[in-house]
Amino acid sequence: MTVLSVDIRKKIYANDCCAIENLAFKAQPGEFVAIVGPSGAGKTTLLNLIAGLDQEMQGSITFHSGQERRASPRTSFMFQEPRLIPWLNVQQNLELVLTPRLRAQPLVALADLLALVGLSGCAAMFPGQLSGGMQRRVALLRAFIIEPSLLLMDEPFQSLDAPTAEQLRVLLQALWQRTHPTVLFVTHSLREAISLADRILFLSERPSRVILDLPIDLPHPRLIEDVPVQNLHESLLRKHPQLLAGQIAPASERTAKAAFLRVINGGVVDPG
Ligand code: ADP
Repeated sequence: MTVLSVDIRKKIYANDCCAIENLAFKAQPGEFVAIVGPSGAGKTTLLNLIAGLDQEMQGSITFHSGQERRASPRTSFMFQEPRLIPWLNVQQNLELVLTPRLRAQPLVALADLLALVGLSGCAAMFPGQLSGGMQRRVALLRAFIIEPSLLLMDEPFQSLDAPTAEQLRVLLQALWQRTHPTVLFVTHSLREAISLADRILFLSERPSRVILDLPIDLPHPRLIEDVPVQNLHESLLRKHPQLLAGQIAPASERTAKAAFLRVINGGVVDPG
């Protein structure tokens, strides 16, 4: 079981744009962590660094099991767009990412997996024949089919209508509960983060750092309209109206966590 440790001292792009400064956190195996922050804070930059797509930075991103340092775990990345190959059908899109061991499994397994994500009978269809929601289902299945230990998600449901996005969040929670990869889920929607995550990391404006690390102790699966999700959303924004802009009063940073733990655990609407 691998722990992810992120300790980025500085990430500066070639144009001198400092995207990240002194951003550190750990993610435990199987933990679902949402990352929330204002547009341009550095969320995509952070995921790209963790995925190793970008390696230019000062600091470290390491994986440990006990005291032992490990190589990067098997990682899936789900982007804002489904990024399916248009000239391959659903089955071929999925087979493209399979390891030889998984590819050797009988095709009935693939049919079962398609049924699991509500795409029975769609194996021979091409991406252009699928709705946006169906394409996301394929992308979600493709992310899970390699049995990742780490799943990086960059606003994957952003452009979908509300009911479709909610169906996909329910599906994501079901898939995550089957194999429990560590998930880092970037979103600018606080409601979405509360409805999914074990823990939310709030990022500051650029250069980004973690301004609040908030555990969400609610049972899964959750829906956006669940009362505890709504209550926590309202309480957080009432207490810290600038939180989504990446700002929190320095003095309240220490007390915020304790206050909101009371909200979550006691079901109190207003932390006072
Ligand atoms: P977010 O995902 O939070 O919206 P990004 O990680 O995309 O933010 O970007 C963080 C900052 O880094 C922004 O100011 C953006 O303009 C800048 N940036 C992102 N990619 C590059 C790049 N390749 N070259 C220069 N600046 C970049």
